[in-house]
Amino acid sequence: MSENIQKKIEDLREEIHQHNYNYYTLDEPTISDFEFDLKLKELQYLEAKHPEFFDSNSPTLRVGGEITKNFPTVQHQFRMYSLDNSYDFNDLEDWEKRLQKSLDEPISYVAELKYDGASISILYENGKLKQAVTRGDGFQGDEITANVKTISDIPLQLHGDFPERFYMRGEIYLTRKNFDKINIRREEEGLDPFMNPRNTASGSLKIQDSAEVRKRGLSAVLYQFIANDFPAKTHWELLQKTKSWGFKISEQAKLCNSLDEVKDFINFWDTQRHQLGFDIDGIVIKVNDLSQQKALGYTAKSPRWAMAYKFKAEKVETELQSVTYQVGRTGAITPVANLKPVLLAGTVVKRASLHNEDIIKKLGLHDHDFVYVEKGGEIIPKIVGVNLDKRNPENQEIQYIKNCPECGTELIKIEDQAIHFCPNELHCPPQVVGRMIHYVSRKALNIENLGSETIEQLYREKLVENPADFYALTKEQLLPLERMAEKSAQNIIDGIEKSKEIPFEKVLYGIGIKHVGETVAKKLAKNFTSIDDLRKATAEELVQVEDIGGKIAESIIAFFQNPENILMIERLKSYGVQLERRENTNEILSNVLENKTFLFTGKLSLFTRDDAEEMVEKHGGKNISAVSKNLNYLVVGEKAGSKLKKAQDIGTIEILDEQQFLDLLGN
Ligand code: AMP
Ligand code: ZN
Repeated sequence: MSENIQKKIEDLREEIHQHNYNYYTLDEPTISDFEFDLKLKELQYLEAKHPEFFDSNSPTLRVGGEITKNFPTVQHQFRMYSLDNSYDFNDLEDWEKRLQKSLDEPISYVAELKYDGASISILYENGKLKQAVTRGDGFQGDEITANVKTISDIPLQLHGDFPERFYMRGEIYLTRKNFDKINIRREEEGLDPFMNPRNTASGSLKIQDSAEVRKRGLSAVLYQFIANDFPAKTHWELLQKTKSWGFKISEQAKLCNSLDEVKDFINFWDTQRHQLGFDIDGIVIKVNDLSQQKALGYTAKSPRWAMAYKFKAEKVETELQSVTYQVGRTGAITPVANLKPVLLAGTVVKRASLHNEDIIKKLGLHDHDFVYVEKGGEIIPKIVGVNLDKRNPENQEIQYIKNCPECGTELIKIEDQAIHFCPNELHCPPQVVGRMIHYVSRKALNIENLGSETIEQLYREKLVENPADFYALTKEQLLPLERMAEKSAQNIIDGIEKSKEIPFEKVLYGIGIKHVGETVAKKLAKNFTSIDDLRKATAEELVQVEDIGGKIAESIIAFFQNPENILMIERLKSYGVQLERRENTNEILSNVLENKTFLFTGKLSLFTRDDAEEMVEKHGGKNISAVSKNLNYLVVGEKAGSKLKKAQDIGTIEILDEQQFLDLLGN
């Protein structure tokens, strides 16, 4: 029986790997998405029921879920070099001359797009993805295997006659479409948008929860095979081979028999790159013949056999029509340059961000100046200079506003950050809306279905002005709103009702006390049993709490000094929102750890760090955050690092593994 099930599981895995290959690599799916999902669900079901047949490369692991607490550092077996840069065709011709001098034989090249993302090195053993490591400093990087496995473009299982052990190098990037999706979602959750796809892609690789990484929708392309022995004579052949094993290689890569062909390729993509749907910042040119590559070797920094050609950031001139000021949800002011529409890098540009007053001063902007606009890696173009020849001497220098354009309040300038903000937190419209959006966001009260647009509408209709107003809403009030159907109105009402179950710490985060983020809210909720308890705390008491400094303490006190906040809190209480800790989270199980201090380090496998710390507290012990003479026990998981060493050096600290820690508790 169990053999049958094992076979069934293995067959399903095999089949799904094949469908993934057909879909992602060949772009020729043979079954519908629906059928595919059914198969995947069946496999998930069987695996959950039979954990004994676990396989770390099962296609179900694509959906993520594995949590990485610390990304271990891994030495690269083959160093990850940089590339030499060239900026024009002269540079390229010089390079070719150097090559010819060393080689004295005909040279062909492979020209590839230079993907603007994060590079990755992936180890394959016996056809299975074994380990994925970031570039880091080129000598060592961070191991991010669990996260990389969620990326559909990267095969977990290879086909055909692949070598037993080798590395594939490639780039992980975000398409512009997926980047926009992420930002739309962030916007809805009241978070600041990300700046550009490149940083977002590399940042995503370091998220601890791989299921979250999956949601980012990352793409990948593989461009380099690395091993001691090569199963081909040229880079081009290698690319075709790796493709046949299941890797997604660049569709645009081209074999060029002369530098002229390379130049054509460069010219083509310099003008066409905006059609690609993802960002490239140049072209990479590689000597095709592997024995030539070997003969050329490396400099201290980069291979002599490869060269990056960087595209120039595109720059155009246009007229500045006006400067307007946006008020963000936190009250921060952003000046925006409104431009005469102009075509830049494939899109019509009408606006550029000016960031802050200092930048406007530095540019010396005057009304109706003709400005140079550039598009670098950032999504929003920026003004990089003024064409002074075209300035009309009658035009005045731009004066930064003194009052909030939304509510008229006098602005405050934070000198060290050069930004202005509107201090009218409770009545400045974008801030009022921002506060409510924050309240319903996923990490706060998590009121699903209540999106930012709906909140804006509700505010415009004067139905809500602060989070307490949500609880007085009725379905009848919602129904007349734009695009509001019976069912969605009901969902909102249900979601609001459900939020009354959300624990104190999240509510504390949700009510939007300045500087009280998620972690601080958690700490506060641990140390104060209720909002009233917190309200009574003095600044001295507040700074006693771990991670709470003077700035946070001050802001908490200011919050409670405002009668409008007190009114909101009293109303939230009356509606049944959790403004005190629920009892059982604080229950004491024993005092066996009384007067003992603990610290956890390394990758824990029997419990999470949060759980462990909670156990310590429930048994009367105390958690501390650093190794010192005051520490009694260091509990070490896998791959413990410097803390373990330090504890051993001190000598008086008892070192426990996870099981020994449980034994202490009498479990
Ligand atoms: P740089 O960071 O400017 O030294 O450029 C080197 C980086 O270019 C590598 O680390 C890769 O991440 C990236 N890259 C993008 N596309 C390619 C490609 N087709 N071949 C090699 N490297 C590439
Ligand atoms: Zn304002």
